Amino acid sequence: MNDTQQWIIETTNLTRVYGDGDQIRALDGVDLRIAHGELVTVMGPSGSGKSTLLNMIGALDKPSSGKVFVNGEDVVLIKNKDKFRAKTVGFMFQLHNLLPTLTARENVEVPMMGHMGRRKRHMRSEELLELVGLGDRMKHLPNQLSGGQRQRVAVARALANNPPLVLADEPTGSLDTNSGMELMKLIKDLNESQGTTFLVVTHDLDVARQTRRVLVMADGRIVREDLIGSPLEEDLKVWQHSGLGRRFLEHRHNELSHLSINPEQFEAVRILLSNNVKDSKILID
Ligand code: ADP
Repeated sequence: MNDTQQWIIETTNLTRVYGDGDQIRALDGVDLRIAHGELVTVMGPSGSGKSTLLNMIGALDKPSSGKVFVNGEDVVLIKNKDKFRAKTVGFMFQLHNLLPTLTARENVEVPMMGHMGRRKRHMRSEELLELVGLGDRMKHLPNQLSGGQRQRVAVARALANNPPLVLADEPTGSLDTNSGMELMKLIKDLNESQGTTFLVVTHDLDVARQTRRVLVMADGRIVREDLIGSPLEEDLKVWQHSGLGRRFLEHRHNELSHLSINPEQFEAVRILLSNNVKDSKILID
């Protein structure tokens, strides 16, 4: 595997400038690498370049300079962009809402048109709607579904051609907290079970906390990156910084006599805490 193939997304100095006179640098030299199978969220204030980044990765817009590779291919050089978008990238964008006159099943079949025959489309849409828990809603029209169910249809549609990558722009934006959390759980499950890479733009910190890697954008740049651990890892990190944790880490047994733990137990806790220390940059201030 060469270096480029290792990454499902790789950008180097990716820049997008709008306008002639007073130029806006919507993306200002973004270097990003996302490995196959990651689930990554992108946060940042409105106007910071999140949608522009997704548009570049999805071949919906062209960089002014710099490179963007998706699945090892230089996106600018891809001749058949429609095929690339159908096969390699699934979209969950606000502007790609469900078509109101088509059933859930027909909506899921739209991206498969021209790529597989009717029978195969039928089987695949059924399989996908079952996967997202809507096996009993296949013939419903969008207005007969709840907001959360509609977003599930959008997830199924994004997965229609089994793409290795799904780009989602504010997928939980119009949902209440519970439906939003359920949708994120579905995305996480699909990420784990199908190995699909997800890049999700969100304003919601609770959504971002569901993922292990959070990119924060400002003024067209990635200004920060947080790696988030499991709840246990997070608890351990808090513990490390507490007075009690520091006594373990600094071998201050004598100050812990009140805990009545034996030397083996002391050492086990110390190792648990110290192994976790080396882990990366930490979450959310
Ligand atoms: P975000 O998704 O973080 O809200 P965007 O990527 O939509 O940010 O926008 C980044 C910047 O680029 C903003 O200042 C926005 O006004 C500008 N911008 C985006 N699209 C266009 C466009 N088609 N023409 C001119 N400016 C644009």
